[in-house]
Amino acid sequence: MPVSAIWVLCEPTSSGVTTTSLELLAAARTLATRVEVVSWGPSTAANAEVLGVHDVGDVHGRLPGVPVAAAMAALVQRAGAPDAILVPTSYDGRDVAARLSVRLDRPVLTNVTGLTDEGGALVSEHPVFGGSLTVRARFTGEPPGIFVIRAKSFAPEPAGSTAAAVAALEVPETGATGSATVDTSHAEERTGPSLDEAGVVVSGGRGLGDASAYPMIEELASLLHGAAGASRAIVDAGWVPYSHQVGQTGKTVKPDVYLAFGISGATQHLVGMKGSRAIVAVNKDRDAPIFGIADLGIVGDVHRVLPALIDLLKNR
Ligand SMILES: Cc1cc2nc3c(=O)[nH]c(=O)nc-3n(C[C@H](O)[C@H](O)[C@H](O)COP(=O)(O)OP(=O)(O)OC[C@H]3O[C@@H](n4cnc5c(N)ncnc54)[C@H](O)[C@@H]3O)c2cc1C
Repeated sequence: MPVSAIWVLCEPTSSGVTTTSLELLAAARTLATRVEVVSWGPSTAANAEVLGVHDVGDVHGRLPGVPVAAAMAALVQRAGAPDAILVPTSYDGRDVAARLSVRLDRPVLTNVTGLTDEGGALVSEHPVFGGSLTVRARFTGEPPGIFVIRAKSFAPEPAGSTAAAVAALEVPETGATGSATVDTSHAEERTGPSLDEAGVVVSGGRGLGDASAYPMIEELASLLHGAAGASRAIVDAGWVPYSHQVGQTGKTVKPDVYLAFGISGATQHLVGMKGSRAIVAVNKDRDAPIFGIADLGIVGDVHRVLPALIDLLKNR
């Protein structure tokens, strides 16, 4: 018997919903006969190109975790539980999942990178030991199973063209828990595509020598209309912000081309970029592990290769 109902938590952005939400929706549609969305924000109706949207509405300057989890838990108690609730791995997604878990007294499976239907039971995949092993898991208790899913685990699908049925979801009284408000928020400035969505990602690692070499990574990324990434070593060293980090504890990227400059290829880095369509690595050590997964490897000094590539592209 196939999985009958899945709810997907869709996170709004200023111009729609996050790509990860669309990835989860695409997966849910292949797994369940009924897919419903829970979302919030002032423009759910305008964004709602998917069937069956439960709209928590404008959360009025509050963090969404408390009202959204409270409203979802109340809906489960009122209307019955779906088989599964899919939640994106993000700050708000994790907040909602944790609160929902407590309210419903149900466990959560996190760091999910795959989901399959095996005889009506959802089986999730989780990379462990830096991605060198994959653990498979499933819930055995009462539904709903709450799965927190990593970005880029599934291909996103544009929302359907069918008109959506939007149902307002009431937020129950949450007392003092829901009283915290957001005073200010800061959107990081960037030009070009975001790291998660870029078709080309150019990343730098400790082999760059010091922070003053990183602008070459940014320049090459810009010339290729891509985004600049980094290994954790140079994030920890304070050369670039955490938002640039690719890997197990950073972002997962799946660009058409990933270029790694002066990155050794530790498993914790590889797990965040090994799904790239083509990988180009530049490293002065011919035995560097990154060459084990590279489609094209250049044994060389980044201080020679990077300026040469930049010159070539500028003079094209
Ligand atoms: C729990 C945990 C989570 C982690 N999460 C992440 C993560 O999300 N992302 C991540 O990246 N790491 C992560 N790490 C760290 C990871 O294990 C590595 O330490 C890190 O990826 C190394 O970064 P690096 O390749 O830049 O540096 P190094 O390992 O020091 O490698 C530098 C490379 O540059 C080469 N090199 C040096 N000079 C030059 C030159 N002039 N020209 C060309 N090549 C040169 C060297 O040969 C070497 O291969 C995590 C570790 C742990 C324990």
